[in-house]
Amino acid sequence: MRVSGPASGALLDGLCGIRPEPRRASLRRLRDAGGEELDRAMVLWLPGPGSYSGEDSAELHLHASRAVIAGVADALARLGARPAEPGEFTRRAFLNGRMDLIEAEAVGDLVAAETAGQRRQALRQLDGALGELYRGWAERLRLMLAEQEALIDFPDEALPPETEAAMLAELSVLQAALGQHLDDGRRGERLREGLVFAVTGPPNVGKSSLVNALAGRDVAIVSELPGTTRDALETRLELGGVPVTLVDTAGLRETGDAIEAEGVRRARSRAAAADLVVSVYDIRAGTGGMGGHESVPELCVANKADLGGVAPEGVLAVSATTGAGLDRLRVRLALEAHGLTDAAGPPPLTRARHRAALREAAERLAGARAAAWPELRAEDLRLALRALGRVTGQVGVEDILDTIFARFCIGK
Ligand code: GDP
Repeated sequence: MRVSGPASGALLDGLCGIRPEPRRASLRRLRDAGGEELDRAMVLWLPGPGSYSGEDSAELHLHASRAVIAGVADALARLGARPAEPGEFTRRAFLNGRMDLIEAEAVGDLVAAETAGQRRQALRQLDGALGELYRGWAERLRLMLAEQEALIDFPDEALPPETEAAMLAELSVLQAALGQHLDDGRRGERLREGLVFAVTGPPNVGKSSLVNALAGRDVAIVSELPGTTRDALETRLELGGVPVTLVDTAGLRETGDAIEAEGVRRARSRAAAADLVVSVYDIRAGTGGMGGHESVPELCVANKADLGGVAPEGVLAVSATTGAGLDRLRVRLALEAHGLTDAAGPPPLTRARHRAALREAAERLAGARAAAWPELRAEDLRLALRALGRVTGQVGVEDILDTIFARFCIGK
């Protein structure tokens, strides 16, 4: 149990009598107001501002039975504490300047991480590398803005033309840096949110069987009747450290059955929105592009290899029934997942919120470059700065804090 706020020290005294030395784990008997023992617990006294939240805080390492938790929570409430909101500790850490908003969001990502790749990305973001990048850009913008404002305040002292040229050059360098950062193939967002691989192909080629074999459990209904999979079925897997949702789509074929036709329609739209399409064929039927989703990378798989036949160049031959080739398919899928999310190099963007603000900053920079008057350029620079500041949480974020921290769990 964690406690944060100016009264933490007094609460701790009330609960365990003698307050432990700061930052030293100490064994204490916890008692309620009537003197009844509630637990024997390891207790930490963490005075601010060097604590996680920046405030005086305490940690109680309880024997977490219901009776102990209820007893201690009740004793704390009687001493004046109230239960924390989801994410409130991190929110206070942000408000007390212990971390910027990007780092606070990274804590949320770390708590929610399902795979090693997500954990690494969250920890990297928690290191503050992204915040540093954005603050670096903001600093350069501030310098330019100062120059522009000097020009507005002292219009007679026209800047020498080389200053104007240097400013335009700096603006285009910054604009290019932002553009590059934005044009990252959504790697960071994809890793954070997980990828979607759509398994498509004609009916009865073994799509459901393949998804089952990959998932190692029966998630899709396998049937000898073509057109049994009427809706998109989803399975979440970890491939190469990346969370991947495999969508087993209904057999793509023209059909008179209204429900099946709806399944086909959903399959097509799911495939069009997927990060990768796994096109499955019957090895005896031969292969050819399914078409309809050119913008999405495609991996071709020839199934039922146990029945004979040869897969063409570049197509993986597998058998969902015997398991032949499935290991290679897993490796290929993991490589694709890795390729779509690989974050080597500078830290990638991880959230749509950041992307929207950075896009706005980039647009303002373009505006500043094209501006005819110093006043207009200064205004564009100011708006670009504001947009950057919103990402790190330096300006105008009060209205979004609830949304950001509501997704946290209580106690974080
Ligand atoms: P879907 O309609 O593409 O999802 O296909 P299903 O997974 O429902 O499989 C259709 C039929 O093909 C079923 O009878 C499966 O048992 C059979 N099947 C699936 N994979 C293989 C395979 O690798 N080899 C053989 N021999 N039969 C398979």
